Amino acid sequence: MTKTFANGSVVALQGADFDVRPGEFISLVGPSGCGKSTLLRIVAGLLESSAGELSVHGESVTGPRSDVAMMFQKPTLLAWRTAVENVLLPSEISGKPGPAERKKALDLLELAGLKDFAFSFPSQLSGGMQQRVALARLLQTGADVLLLDEPFGALDEFTREHLNVELMRITGEVKSTTLFVTHNIGEAIFLADRVFVMTPRPGQIAKIVDIPLPRPRDPSIQVTPEFNELVAEVRATLGGHP
Ligand code: ADP
Repeated sequence: MTKTFANGSVVALQGADFDVRPGEFISLVGPSGCGKSTLLRIVAGLLESSAGELSVHGESVTGPRSDVAMMFQKPTLLAWRTAVENVLLPSEISGKPGPAERKKALDLLELAGLKDFAFSFPSQLSGGMQQRVALARLLQTGADVLLLDEPFGALDEFTREHLNVELMRITGEVKSTTLFVTHNIGEAIFLADRVFVMTPRPGQIAKIVDIPLPRPRDPSIQVTPEFNELVAEVRATLGGHP
């Protein structure tokens, strides 16, 4: 897959070819500007590739699809709506939500660890809690392909690590297929079944690294020799572009 901008003068992606298996967790790691977000937006159907083909569930992607949903660094919650009303938004867009949708929203908030905050407003929630609401809203769409663009990148390191553990649990529970973008090598490895290592523009998938670490994973795995070998392998591919 190739993507150029500005009449072809900016090559953002070049020959970025890959397959993702159902239920897999893929981390896309690479330096800023290597085309990670561009690749994700093409998968989301928000951008068209300049050359090449992309299919999801065996169907060509020609625009946004109901089985693919994307989440960004900012939670973008509506300030005047409670957490559960924010989670219900995707259901409102596709019709009038009934009791089943409402129950689903409450269940998803519970899954995201926010059982006691369903009726709180965003301003009453910490940054990490707001991203949990955004994650519940993402799952409310019913999409089974989740695209996460540095979802916890704006949070402090402790909150981020905690949310990564939660994300791993939640994506495992809902059995989603997940593409997770980050420029943090440790985070990429900790979460993934496979890491796609991207090199600077024109963005290419330079290497696909299998992460055979057993699950469930605890953050303490990050100090093991196996983990550090994987970090070294990814780092070597990035070649001095952290
Ligand atoms: P990353 O997510 O890895 O930081 P991006 O996918 O955002 O990288 O960007 C990849 C490259 O494509 C960058 O050089 C960026 O400047 C360029 N680019 C992205 N979007 C546009 C656009 N709409 N117009 C022109 N250039 C763009």
